[in-house]
Amino acid sequence: MQKSKELFEKAKKFIPGGVNSPVRACLSVQADPLFIERGEGPYLYSAEGERFIDYVLSWGPLILGHSHPRVKEALLATLEKGTSFGAPCELEIELAELVVEALPSVEMIRMVNSGTEATMSALRLARGYTKRNKVVKFIGCYHGHADSFLASAGSGVATLSIPGTPGVPEETVAHTLLANYNDLDQVEDLFKEHGQDIAAVIVEPVAGNMGVVLPRAGFLEGLREITLKYGSLLIFDEVITGFRVSYSGAQGYFNIDPDLTCLGKIIGGGLPVGAYGGKKEIMQHIAPEGPVYQAGTLSGNPLAMSAGIATLKELKNKDYNKLAQNTEKLALGLQEILQKKGVPVRLNLIGSMFTLFFTDQEVVDFAGAKQSNQELFVSFYQQMRTQGIYLAPSAFEASFNSFSHTEKEWEKTLEAANKLEF
Ligand SMILES: *Cc1c(COP(=O)(O)O)cnc(C)c1O
Repeated sequence: MQKSKELFEKAKKFIPGGVNSPVRACLSVQADPLFIERGEGPYLYSAEGERFIDYVLSWGPLILGHSHPRVKEALLATLEKGTSFGAPCELEIELAELVVEALPSVEMIRMVNSGTEATMSALRLARGYTKRNKVVKFIGCYHGHADSFLASAGSGVATLSIPGTPGVPEETVAHTLLANYNDLDQVEDLFKEHGQDIAAVIVEPVAGNMGVVLPRAGFLEGLREITLKYGSLLIFDEVITGFRVSYSGAQGYFNIDPDLTCLGKIIGGGLPVGAYGGKKEIMQHIAPEGPVYQAGTLSGNPLAMSAGIATLKELKNKDYNKLAQNTEKLALGLQEILQKKGVPVRLNLIGSMFTLFFTDQEVVDFAGAKQSNQELFVSFYQQMRTQGIYLAPSAFEASFNSFSHTEKEWEKTLEAANKLEF
């Protein structure tokens, strides 16, 4: 930890809090962040050369593991030709086509540079298209850090206990209507009162930013029904779930047809990418085809496109069911070990993402997630990290598995859990 500690002290002189994204500072787990030197497959290597089994995977993008050979090859080949053109290139079409093929509801797609940009642009489009102002979002869902979404926004914000955030005008958030995740009645009530001015409902079809919380049977279907009834758009924020829950995302998994879909993380293969897409009839409202303005100097960047293309091409032939089975085995193993040690634990799991909440209660929304015992989590996190297991430094995050992890890593993880003391 010595080198990481030194680097952290130095970083704090030049970068607020020493990090470029708050949760990385590890404040809520009362630890210093590890500075990372390199990643390979399921492993991270810290600045002091220690090796960790990585279940954060850059917060989701690296479903193929670190430095995947195909992704690296693609990046190097593109790099030879230049880094950015500010003009269209064929790679943009290739990635767009791959996404459109994979997600039945997406007919057209616009590339941006982050998930945040994807959601804020999708909301602007929804507002421009419907000529309405309000948006319904769910408490504990995170949709990036754009003003409209920073009311009750889950993990990063929750961990730091910032009630919303200073810097967002009240008038802006006044258009954001809040409901509890999995609570259709509340959504109905909001629509009864404001239905004619609701441009969209935005939802993580599986919540991943208050820890993993699954939609109850009928919840997503209900949202589809209500939005159709009132002429509002349904926006699926699949920045985490896209190409994670299945190759066709959560919408394929649950067979729901949203109007707009936000993507990021996996489709960038570890490079900064976001995208939003949906029905042609709606997407055609974006400039230059339509009047809703949205632009980006580096959008569709060739390096980012190549990493995304290589990743999706590789994923096309991967066995998502097998990965889900292995993830279940690992997560159930962890749950059993913790239970034997007398720790109250609740497992939420889908595909290759899961969260162990330290509570006896079922977790179906943010209020439930917050019941997770913070002290136990901190102890769990610290003891696992000491043993070389790298987990997200917050009780409200998902753990991610990857196609690069093997039996060997999963066994080591369970061995580490066996040695925990509470
Ligand atoms: C990560 C995330 C975002 C934000 O993406 P950034 O690339 O960090 O801006 C938006 N929505 C969801 C569901 C996310 O998990």
